[in-house]
Amino acid sequence: MDCIFCKIVNGSIPSQKVYEDSEFLAFLDIHPVNKGHLLVIPKEHHETIVDVPPELLSRLMLVVQQAAEAVRQVTHADGFNIVQNNYRAAGQEVPHIHFHIIPRFSDDGLRHWPSKSVSDEEMSSIRQKLKDALHI
Ligand code: AMP
Ligand code: ZN
Repeated sequence: MDCIFCKIVNGSIPSQKVYEDSEFLAFLDIHPVNKGHLLVIPKEHHETIVDVPPELLSRLMLVVQQAAEAVRQVTHADGFNIVQNNYRAAGQEVPHIHFHIIPRFSDDGLRHWPSKSVSDEEMSSIRQKLKDALHI
């Protein structure tokens, strides 16, 4: 398969590995937002968060949690972002699910997304549709 993260998993392209076990891998992002920017992936190829088997996703989140704390401690970050993009429209460039752990600093100059104005009617409408769509 022509997936760059699968190639990292099988060792055919190099990576700066930080953690590896039988199911997961954490490695440095080649274009870090800040130093210490880490990616955590399952070794099994799944494209987006909705494609990952729930049990695997649960275990993946535990690795993300531990890795985030390691990033925070080692970089002395003031905070961190966990970012996970799904599909191209949301900025997903590599179609193999990955969580970004991005150390953040009070003075790093990065901004969050701008907000949009949504009317009360639109808010009510989308709220109802979401309630109806969510079956847990
Ligand atoms: P996304 O836009 O969420 O799909 O993020 C993909 C991330 O993978 C980007 O931040 C890239 O810098 C990173 N990336 C792409 N190729 C590599 C690679 N060979 N090693 C490490 N990180 C990579
Ligand atoms: Zn893959």
